[in-house]
Amino acid sequence: MQHYVFAPPAVSAVPVSGGGLFPVRRIFCVGRNYAEHAREMGGDPSREEPFFFTKPSDALVTEGSATPYPPATSDLHHEMELVVAIGTGGTDIDEAHALDHVFGYAPGLDMTRRDLQASAKKAGRPWDMSKGFDHSAPIGDILPAATIGHPASGLIELKVNGKLRQSSDLSKMTWSVPEIIAYLSRQVRLGAGDLIMTGTPEGVAAVVRGDLLEGMIAGVGSVRTKIV
Ligand code: MN
Repeated sequence: MQHYVFAPPAVSAVPVSGGGLFPVRRIFCVGRNYAEHAREMGGDPSREEPFFFTKPSDALVTEGSATPYPPATSDLHHEMELVVAIGTGGTDIDEAHALDHVFGYAPGLDMTRRDLQASAKKAGRPWDMSKGFDHSAPIGDILPAATIGHPASGLIELKVNGKLRQSSDLSKMTWSVPEIIAYLSRQVRLGAGDLIMTGTPEGVAAVVRGDLLEGMIAGVGSVRTKIV
């Protein structure tokens, strides 16, 4: 029998409200899923198919933990997002049955090194280093869909040091959660443990060390982290 040549990495996990841990496999993220955010980033929200990028599973920062300010940037941005936690995998999932694959939901932050993203866009290079860096995915506890249902509308907001920075409604997503799951499952086989960050509304801006980020999604919960 073969043995590992060193201890395998720990499984990334997110606490589930009510008990237990959700083991995380992969983190997918949807780009430009609110029209007003697409506009503030210089895009045209009317013409785009959904597109995806990823973060490593060990980029997660669980509820209440501090987020270290990352290296290689002077323009770290917050993006407040609804996170979908996949409980049952599958491929070619149809929209009508997509929500059956959801274990639950969490509020999360797609932290972004905006300066690196801007230079990557300009050069036609990948976004990995602007999106998938260490500690780039603070996330609140996961609320089971069995408890809260499947939120398709409701306030999503982010405060920084008590001041409102982002405020929108889940109903303004360009691509709904069932549409995102269906689309993504035609590109990859989704697996139990996958998280999908569903895009941010307008109001993204820079944070600095010492800032306290408090995100809230009505009916889903909250995420809180301090930049250190
Ligand atoms: Mn995002």
